[in-house]
Amino acid sequence: MKDMTFTLTEEQRALKAAVYELCKQYPPEYWRELDAKREYPDAFINELTKAGYLAALIPHEYGGAGLGIVEGGLILEEINRSGGNAGACHAQMYIMGTVLRHGSEAQKNTYLPKIATGELRLQAFGVTEPNSGSDTTKLQTTAIKQGDRYIVNGQKMFISRVLQSDLMLLLARTTPVDQVKKKTDGLSVFLVDIRGLRGFEVRPLRMMMNHSTNALFFDNVEIPADSLIGQEGKGFSYILDGMNAERILVASDSLGDGRWFIEKAVAYSSQRVIFGRPIGANQGVQFPIAKAHMAIEAADLMRTKAAKLFDAGEPCGPEANMAKYLAAEAAWDAGNACIDAHGGYGYAEEYDVERKFREARLYKTAPINNNLVMAYVGEHVLGMPRSY
Ligand SMILES: Cc1cc2nc3c(=O)[nH]c(=O)nc-3n(C[C@H](O)[C@H](O)[C@H](O)COP(=O)(O)OP(=O)(O)OC[C@H]3O[C@@H](n4cnc5c(N)ncnc54)[C@H](O)[C@@H]3O)c2cc1C
Repeated sequence: MKDMTFTLTEEQRALKAAVYELCKQYPPEYWRELDAKREYPDAFINELTKAGYLAALIPHEYGGAGLGIVEGGLILEEINRSGGNAGACHAQMYIMGTVLRHGSEAQKNTYLPKIATGELRLQAFGVTEPNSGSDTTKLQTTAIKQGDRYIVNGQKMFISRVLQSDLMLLLARTTPVDQVKKKTDGLSVFLVDIRGLRGFEVRPLRMMMNHSTNALFFDNVEIPADSLIGQEGKGFSYILDGMNAERILVASDSLGDGRWFIEKAVAYSSQRVIFGRPIGANQGVQFPIAKAHMAIEAADLMRTKAAKLFDAGEPCGPEANMAKYLAAEAAWDAGNACIDAHGGYGYAEEYDVERKFREARLYKTAPINNNLVMAYVGEHVLGMPRSY
């Protein structure tokens, strides 16, 4: 590893400041109103796209900024630190990597430049199913080749931003599990153009937070055979390959949430006077905030280490998983400290704490549950017996 410094370069600091500046034009009321109506932040996402931030990881040759995962993470972190919700757009950054690494030249030339300009949105990633959950290889959606088409049948659950996307990355079984050597074989990834797709139904789900999440139904849906990414049957490895990026970027969402909670808790508890002095002078209020700050800083180090390893092309599975776990837990603790510091006002919508609290909670569960991160660390990092 050549570069293991943890300070940001001047360009990275400038990037952070510019993203924060853009985000500040979308005040808490903007996010609060969308949250109440469960609506997508279209205006914000369009502006972010126009400024090129959502194309940060797309290489120059395809019209993107050609930046690394370090910078991608900083962009998402600043969105959440400013009070916004990067969950509306984070997926494009990590889904795009699967197309970039495993897609054909034709697929990359057709889609990446349009994704970079915002002409096409690729924000939907269809993996989870009602009957398989965390056990991805048990998924039951099938894609069967017939001539120049695949016929897709099945259901997906909790798939976000489908109604706001033109394209979806879909994982489906192309060879039945009883006909493959390993259960991870026989799954394939497709880049599906979902505009006007016949037999495809999207049912929005009202979730705890504003996340544009849906149940999907595929009833003999025909997709062109050239929607297949890479080799048929190798899809699971392509998805795994993109997971380190996903973990690092989601860790960045959590770091932004954690920093927002801490800044908010510090400001409020320093000015709120009860029993004749600021409540923040009491150790019962101050110490949980200080503790949460330390946890966020520590998680940031792990996120940065993972991101630098990733950008250097080195293995980073343990670091990416640990960063996701540590950041999600630290953000959650920061959220609790922030609610406690605000007393009853922590529950009042106009303070935004309860909204951010709901948003931050997600990352303990998705895109991978923290239990499964611990199982990964136990088995793959520490060499302990497999727990599932
Ligand atoms: C708001 C939201 C948005 C989402 N967006 C997407 C999306 O865009 N695309 C997508 O594909 N998915 C998405 N998901 C799905 C998410 O990735 C899954 O919820 C998650 O992977 C877990 O699957 P599950 O909900 O079926 O839980 P299950 O797999 O049923 O697990 C339930 C609980 O049991 C625990 N558990 C299960 N097995 C073990 C074990 N062996 N050891 C210890 N604990 C275990 C889990 O950790 C969890 O706590 C989203 C989910 C939410 C809530």
